Amino acid sequence: MVRVIVTAVPGAGKSTILKKVAEKFPDLKVINFGDVMLEEASRQLGITDRDELRKKISFKDYRRLQEEAAKIISGIDGDLIIDTHAAVKTVYGYYPGLPSKVVEELNPDAIVFLEFRPEDILARRMKDLSKDESNGRRLREIEKIEDVEEHQKISLEMVSAAANHASCYLLILRFLESQKYPYQHAEEASLKIIELIEKLKKAGESLKD
Ligand code: AMP
Ligand code: MG
Repeated sequence: MVRVIVTAVPGAGKSTILKKVAEKFPDLKVINFGDVMLEEASRQLGITDRDELRKKISFKDYRRLQEEAAKIISGIDGDLIIDTHAAVKTVYGYYPGLPSKVVEELNPDAIVFLEFRPEDILARRMKDLSKDESNGRRLREIEKIEDVEEHQKISLEMVSAAANHASCYLLILRFLESQKYPYQHAEEASLKIIELIEKLKKAGESLKD
């Protein structure tokens, strides 16, 4: 049973990357941490919107939902990729996506940290916004290059702490050169994650002998 957590800031293209990884392993499940939290929030508090998750619920509820989501995910059988954030931006400041209790519960073999050029991330967010029709609210949240730089820096610090706490591997994948063709970074990132999963699977099998 391989468990890998994949983190990146919003707009990094994580969903595209993980779709490519999932195509390679038919039995691998990709679980979005935010989806599980939102399902719980909707069941318990009637919250239906992703943005309300960050903004409308109390700190206490947020922390509880986060821990409950970790428990639900840790109960899922088989090989797993957990799609999540290392540092969530809130109105109060950064909130850890993988604090001790959460990462302990998830018990990963490895955490992957993806880093991209801030300008690529901002361009991808703009593209997503143009597809979204109810985007007035989000337009006000457009960030600057420095904001994305800081978010990525804090994310790496938080994910390092999480890997230390969980005694697991930390794989850092950086894509800081401009792409030569569309989806180049997504392709390269997915190949690296596939390689990691293959290695972990092999190591796990040899341990069973
Ligand atoms: P996503 O769809 O992956 O961008 O995640 C949507 C939302 O889910 C984020 O903005 C967070 O509010 C929440 N979320 C995702 N992962 C975590 C986590 N590990 N801890 C707390 N909140 C999270
Ligand atoms: Mg996503």
